[in-house]
Amino acid sequence: MNARLALPLAILVAAAIPVLPGIPPFWITLLNNIGLAALVALGLVLLTGVGGLTSFGQAAFCGFAAYTSALLTTRYGLSPWLTLPVSLLVTGIAALVLGVITVRLSGHYLPLGTIAWGISIYYLFGQIEMLGRHDGLSGIAPLNFFGVSLREPATIYYAIWFAVFAASICTIFLLDSRIGRAMRSLRGGRVAAESFGINTARLKLIAFVYAAVLAGLSGWLYVHYQRTVNPTPFGLHVGIEYLFMAVLGGAGYVWGAVTGAALVTLLKDILQRVSPMLVGNFTQIDTIVFGVLLVLTLQFAPRGVWAFLRNLAPQARPRTIAAAEPLRRRAPATQGDAPLLGVTGLRKQFGGLVAVNDVSFHLKAGEIVALIGPNGAGKSTTFNLISGVARPTSGSVRFAGHDLSNASAQECAKLGMARTFQHVKLLPEMSVLENVALGAHLRGHAGLFASMFRLDRADEARLLAEAARQIERVGLTEHMHKPAGSLALGQQRIVEIARALCLDPRLLLLDEPAAGLRHFEKQNLAKLLDGLRQEGMSVLLVEHDMGFVMGLTDHIVVLDFGTKIAEGKPEAIRENPAVLQAYLGSAA
Ligand code: ADP
Ligand code: MG
Repeated sequence: MNARLALPLAILVAAAIPVLPGIPPFWITLLNNIGLAALVALGLVLLTGVGGLTSFGQAAFCGFAAYTSALLTTRYGLSPWLTLPVSLLVTGIAALVLGVITVRLSGHYLPLGTIAWGISIYYLFGQIEMLGRHDGLSGIAPLNFFGVSLREPATIYYAIWFAVFAASICTIFLLDSRIGRAMRSLRGGRVAAESFGINTARLKLIAFVYAAVLAGLSGWLYVHYQRTVNPTPFGLHVGIEYLFMAVLGGAGYVWGAVTGAALVTLLKDILQRVSPMLVGNFTQIDTIVFGVLLVLTLQFAPRGVWAFLRNLAPQARPRTIAAAEPLRRRAPATQGDAPLLGVTGLRKQFGGLVAVNDVSFHLKAGEIVALIGPNGAGKSTTFNLISGVARPTSGSVRFAGHDLSNASAQECAKLGMARTFQHVKLLPEMSVLENVALGAHLRGHAGLFASMFRLDRADEARLLAEAARQIERVGLTEHMHKPAGSLALGQQRIVEIARALCLDPRLLLLDEPAAGLRHFEKQNLAKLLDGLRQEGMSVLLVEHDMGFVMGLTDHIVVLDFGTKIAEGKPEAIRENPAVLQAYLGSAA
């Protein structure tokens, strides 16, 4: 069976379930609960599994939508279909406000923040007179679909599972797009993503709102299914259950959400039946069992159950790269004789340590300049200052006619600076092709909605074709579809160069690109860089291999303990006594 058949088959089976003769009604109720939970867990796949942001507070978003719709239908008599967009909008706005505050928290503060608002919103629902306080609201209208009332479990079943399938497909489409790729890159850290012009804060917020709106959809369906609402299902303990579903099912996979929702819902049901026999009236038993299971899952199957199940499911074939018209190139910089890059009095102090000590140099368009010096001389720090990853203590950086002294990594990328990292920053599980395509992020245009609804294919094809072209240019075509982490470290550095080239840069900043390469690979790299120079590219590189640097570069700048001790043509540097003392002396 191939992958294309799996989904229609699943939909067919799902559609047949409620009309199968002899199916216990109670099963349908369970399936409905699974579907409602799967919607929330699906949001967590994007937020936690893909974006790396843990939230315990998703149940509160179900509450926003449920109460909005309950209020509008009972008090103002609106049709539930009209309240759907309103409910989702209210949820989205609530998420935007909470997200702006929460998403900027880092490390453990973020989940703690979600716990804090998860609790407060639950109590808030119970305090508001208009929402019926702890008793809630009742007498809410059921959904009505062209005259058919979705009052019964077996009818609302179709609405719930239609929502689950539609949301899953949109999420799959989203993840397989320019925006989704950028979201997936969030796990690799802020620095690399922003160096390719990705606005990480904005993407986190999008993931946050997306997850909340899916929770809102679940809350809206829930309230018209139950037709009463009170604060209980929107509390923190339910939020923890949703997170558990996502983690148990496999937070990295869309179908992991459905798997996790099914497992946890069934488990809860079983516990509710057997626990009175085992432990009497002890009602909190499921919370304890879930807590223990969560710890065990994280310990022994951190990627969740779907990671195992998907080996049974049909595998998608690697994509073929469709021919696409090339992306538009950057207009060449016209700035007369001014150097492309000018560094003046650049200084960086880390506390008492002067890592870069008032360094000045410049680079003309079409030149390869090398920055050399012993370990700890401040070369990587200089790179970070130039590329906006770190802010200088003092001094200035001018690039292509712009003052970038206090610019962000994103702004540097937009102006055409592309870099590689001394400590490789690729996403090891993502294919080489997609890693490289990240470099072209700024050259694509498809946004969130275009991606969710698959309207981005022409844009996406151009980005992938460009990525494939750059991979071919650096000679890694045969590895294109492998996970980047499976390549040798030296090759991963070359993948980073291809990714940087995808940005269509004016200036390439390469931090020790030849480290870990074998002799003939170094020769290939030198050939590649020389070819780039002939096409007019400018390169600033940090390198240890003197032979590599001497043969290739136009100009060399030597740092020692943060201070520039010499600069000039390779031949002059080779004979400079201060350099021999500092650099070669220390190497010997
Ligand atoms: P190089 O790349 O030439 O080997 P680096 O620029 O990485 O050197 O480091 C220069 C000096 O600055 C080193 O002494 C290093 O320990 C220090 N350094 C670099 N980054 C930091 C940081 N974030 N905080 C404190 N010290 C740092
Ligand atoms: Mg370094």
